[in-house]
Amino acid sequence: METSTESAVLTERIYGAVHDRISSRVKWVILSAAAVFAVMFFFAVAVFGTIFTSLFISQNRASSADPYAQWEVSQGFPQAAKKYLPIYQAAGKKYGVPWQILAAIHKVETDFGRNLSTSPVGARGQMQFMDKTWLGWRYPGGSKLGDLPDSVNLTDPRLIQKYGGYGVDANGDGKADPYNPEDAIYATAKYLAANHQPGEDWFARGGAVWQYNHDYENYVLKVKSYAEQFAHPVVTGAGSGLATGQLAWPVSGGRITSTFGTRFDPVKKVVQLHKGIDIGAPLGTPILASDGGVVIESRVSSGYGWIIVIDHGNGWQTLYAHMYPEHVKVQVGQKVGKGQVIAEVGSNGWSTGPHLHFEVHKNGQLIDPQLLLRR
Ligand SMILES: [Zn+2]
Repeated sequence: METSTESAVLTERIYGAVHDRISSRVKWVILSAAAVFAVMFFFAVAVFGTIFTSLFISQNRASSADPYAQWEVSQGFPQAAKKYLPIYQAAGKKYGVPWQILAAIHKVETDFGRNLSTSPVGARGQMQFMDKTWLGWRYPGGSKLGDLPDSVNLTDPRLIQKYGGYGVDANGDGKADPYNPEDAIYATAKYLAANHQPGEDWFARGGAVWQYNHDYENYVLKVKSYAEQFAHPVVTGAGSGLATGQLAWPVSGGRITSTFGTRFDPVKKVVQLHKGIDIGAPLGTPILASDGGVVIESRVSSGYGWIIVIDHGNGWQTLYAHMYPEHVKVQVGQKVGKGQVIAEVGSNGWSTGPHLHFEVHKNGQLIDPQLLLRR
């Protein structure tokens, strides 16, 4: 009896334990299934939410969402500016200004602090601020352009606060000093941010950089060109889902007036390779992104007038040429959708009439666009 009772108890214990284990396993299965379902549900909501949000938020906002994250230091970034790079980046991040614009202004203004002479109108320091822009235009007196007598202490942060200037004490030494690189670069970022509208091209006429110096051709475009040398956009390519892989006809209407391949150049009077196709269309006809991608170049190019290059990922790029700068609708670093208007047909550069010159590159090799285009 002893043993059978013992074995009965033991049996019950085993069955009980097994039963407990089964019921806890069932609970665990139910709970984890519920958890997996919940995670999938929230993931689906997040993914579709993001897709729908990005569909409704216009594409030109994408480039301004986080300018800091989208730019890498290029190989052409000057040695002389390397010690300032962390400052450009920190100031850019703080004020939401692409850091390479700060570097480009530093280059154009004082060649990275190597030429600190005061300008003829009285601009001074690393970033060549006018005294009253630094101290505040509410300060009484001074010249019309904003020059102040040397007796005025520009570096007092309390005075700057009082008169509403852009001077910043970024290095925390109690002085906002236009000759201190950190203070001056932060002040420039603050000034640009204050003069920038969300989504606006930083280099537009009337835009933030133009506010720094109103000379569009000799200043704004110069800063733009340096900014594009110093940094390149982080191209996410096809992995981002921007490109469809099928190139579309890049103009509203138009017809091919010159095909790809060797030809006699009517302007230069020599036989040479025509690197793309020419599509004749009236001036001002919209030019469309042939596929989705990231604008990696938008600049003047001798012979080609203004050019735009879009990177579609996986080594594919398309180039659009002969535009006028004032008709360009996109900026470097901007994501564009297939068919999005990027510019208008022009006749800028070596051109005998209004047309789009269109090239397709795959891993740097030219490809006849007609082999790929679907109309
Ligand atoms: Zn051409």
